[in-house]
Amino acid sequence: MNEPSTYDAIVVGGGPAGATAAHDLARRGLAVLLLDRAGRTKPCGGAIPPRLIKDFEIPEHLLVARARCARMVSPSDRRVDIPIEGGFVGMVDRDVFDEWLRERARGAGAVRRQGAFEKITRDDDGTAVVHFRSRGAHGAHGVHGAAGGPPGDAGIAASARARCVIGADGARSEVARQQVPGAERTRYVFAYHEIIGRPAVPPAGYDGSRCDVVYRGELSPDFYGWVFPHGDTLSVGTGSADKGFSLRGAVGALRQASGLADAPTLRREGAPIPMQPLPRWDNGRDVVLAGDAAGVVAPASGEGIYYAMYGGRVAAEAAAEFLASGQPRALAQARRRFMRQHGQVFWVLAMMQRFWYRSDKRRERFVSICRDKDVQQLTFEAYMNKELVRARPMAHVRIFFKDLAHLLGVVRA
Ligand SMILES: Cc1cc2nc3c(=O)[nH]c(=O)nc-3n(C[C@H](O)[C@H](O)[C@H](O)COP(=O)(O)OP(=O)(O)OC[C@H]3O[C@@H](n4cnc5c(N)ncnc54)[C@H](O)[C@@H]3O)c2cc1C
Repeated sequence: MNEPSTYDAIVVGGGPAGATAAHDLARRGLAVLLLDRAGRTKPCGGAIPPRLIKDFEIPEHLLVARARCARMVSPSDRRVDIPIEGGFVGMVDRDVFDEWLRERARGAGAVRRQGAFEKITRDDDGTAVVHFRSRGAHGAHGVHGAAGGPPGDAGIAASARARCVIGADGARSEVARQQVPGAERTRYVFAYHEIIGRPAVPPAGYDGSRCDVVYRGELSPDFYGWVFPHGDTLSVGTGSADKGFSLRGAVGALRQASGLADAPTLRREGAPIPMQPLPRWDNGRDVVLAGDAAGVVAPASGEGIYYAMYGGRVAAEAAAEFLASGQPRALAQARRRFMRQHGQVFWVLAMMQRFWYRSDKRRERFVSICRDKDVQQLTFEAYMNKELVRARPMAHVRIFFKDLAHLLGVVRA
């Protein structure tokens, strides 16, 4: 691509949200710069639903494992196995997955640039100038003052002009903090996991095609613990909004309980997960947010990759409409479209988390209702396909009454 004096769009952050937005915009023939600071694999369980694989055309080779069953484990160690009928949950390794997405964006025509976003200023004509610390690489064009620096240094100050900026720089987004009012009030769950090698002799009962989700106050007072298989490795993790809670201690306990205490630890890492969508995703002028930067991770499950990619897609659509019309209000369509599609599910999941994840007594009941075939089918349809929740109103009614019976203690756990 020839060097433009002004990009149509600069996408800050090359995770699932940013790489998707850059890809979609470049595919429309727009001049796109994809800026990512790189150098760190995103801490993530890497579980993705079939809907994501289909909608975003993810090739098979990126799936390192396929989970065909989810096991819900209660505080008293009761287990409910939910088979994933006719499908699977895919597992990806984020270093490979994210890089593949970024390269796909480049293949569609986006220019890639390694660098850390610093701020946005305005040219005399009001055009956004994105400032970043550059480490060179990836064939940059249209970038002023850029040069490659040796690894480990702070990089060289660089900047590029753009008619529109998409902030997809993850949780605690700097673009959101600087540009979008209200972003500074975002609350987070902090999630931590250990990547371990699969033991040569796996513990009794281990199944490399099963995801374990463990609801127990000592593993998390407000979220859950997980053991996700990843082929030759596993992700064992937990999360909590309680800053005083020892996530590391809890993961140690979960590894012990799962017979994985002695497995080799390959990485220990954690990151914040935003707890609810921001009230605004755009600055009313030329910046729009996507993914974790916009606060879109599903409550109760912590699922964020699909929503980040969907958010990247609607942000790209809104940006393209803004670029065509010059109307800044087009940017607000990103949040509107997202919430129309997923707002209800987010609301229900937030209620669920608030109610069911509150005490071990409630967790016990929650796992118990997961035995119910209606609950299983609806939960999995909602997770796998993201749309079918509205399709069976009678099942919702049945679940409502069953939930009520559980809440009132009419049904014993
Ligand atoms: C421990 C843990 C486990 C999880 N497990 C799952 C799971 O199993 N399934 C699931 O669906 N979700 C999971 N999530 C959530 C999921 O990881 C996120 O929701 C998802 O990665 C969000 O994608 P994103 O593109 O918005 O942000 P990110 O993936 O965080 O990507 C942001 C990108 O921005 C770049 N960046 C950041 N700051 C700058 C800057 N200043 N300048 C330039 N670039 C910058 C980063 O390098 C990164 O590439 C998990 C999260 C955690 C923390």
